[in-house]
Amino acid sequence: MFEWRTNKWYLASTGKYIYGNGVLFYGGSQGKGLRGASYIGSIRVEMMRDGVEEYQMLTMIEDLLGEKAAKDIVSRVSTNVVRYLSLPNFSTSGWSSSMDEYDIMAAVRKDMGNTLEAAVRNGQCEHKWNGGEVTEEPTCLEIGYMTYTCTECGAQRDEYIPAYHTEGSCFKITSSTVTCTEDGTVTSKCTICGFEKIRTVSARHNDSDYYRYESKNNSVHNVFCTECGQLIDAVAHLSFAYKENPTCTEKGSQGIRCKLCDYSAETYSFDAAGHSYVDGTCTVCGETDPAYAPEPDVMKGDISGDGKINGMDINIAKRILSGTAEPTDEQLVAADVTGDGAFNGLDANLLSRFISGSINDFN
Ligand SMILES: [Zn+2]
Ligand SMILES: [Zn+2]
Ligand SMILES: [Zn+2]
Ligand SMILES: [Zn+2]
Ligand SMILES: [Zn+2]
Repeated sequence: MFEWRTNKWYLASTGKYIYGNGVLFYGGSQGKGLRGASYIGSIRVEMMRDGVEEYQMLTMIEDLLGEKAAKDIVSRVSTNVVRYLSLPNFSTSGWSSSMDEYDIMAAVRKDMGNTLEAAVRNGQCEHKWNGGEVTEEPTCLEIGYMTYTCTECGAQRDEYIPAYHTEGSCFKITSSTVTCTEDGTVTSKCTICGFEKIRTVSARHNDSDYYRYESKNNSVHNVFCTECGQLIDAVAHLSFAYKENPTCTEKGSQGIRCKLCDYSAETYSFDAAGHSYVDGTCTVCGETDPAYAPEPDVMKGDISGDGKINGMDINIAKRILSGTAEPTDEQLVAADVTGDGAFNGLDANLLSRFISGSINDFN
């Protein structure tokens, strides 16, 4: 059992205690002298403080981002300072050659702080993830990782990539003894590592992967082999009721269908629903109404279009009413102050009362 020993002994010739290895604080005569402090911390205590801080940060990172994120940081520095640069998973290639190992340690520490800060901010941000990049390629037997970064806050999220053998596309069939009527074995080989696996497989006529279905009548469909074309069986339809709702432009239908062949029965169809336009846009499918003409953006009463309602507007209104002026569409909308769709004497009357100040609005 290790016992913490402060290496302190009495030096009779000076009548003082001497401090050495294991001491965290220097006190008494040794502490004094340095800026007059009665106690000062040793370099050892500073290292312990940094170590405790890093341990706390790593624990927080593990809680927030998972074990892998914490391990990634640990793998960049060993706790054994003497050995860490020689660790196989610590690469110095990303660092400038002018940096010494203390700079590198500081850079890793800074990275850890940034990672933690982003993770803490996580939850206050509705992340927008980028396309992600492969940060660890999978191997035949081990999973890899895809890392996605939030383009807003920099938070990162890992998703694993299955090992090649689990995913299976690395295997190519090298030989097969299966026939249409005889069971057999299929041998496939990994194109990366050469691993071979052998499966026992049913004869093709017992394997639905090789079936093609054709409706024969209202109750059954024929089953043919896709390899030799032979009729294997005639079995009942796998019928189910379905309903497809009409869309704005496409008909809908309802009836009974076979899951395997093209048989269908009792079929009803529904007319397309047509668009439901509001302000020129279909509220169902978003289609734009080709016939939509938005009402011109004009101020009621400002027939001249100069931004003011005054005598000039009542002048134009009178000329339109008498037929001596040909109004534009915009002018007609501005002149129709009641908004009833037509410009007439009532509008002109309201307009002159507004200008004289006897009314404050046209409602
Ligand atoms: Zn975010
Ligand atoms: Zn393999
Ligand atoms: Zn066959
Ligand atoms: Zn069928
Ligand atoms: Zn529509």
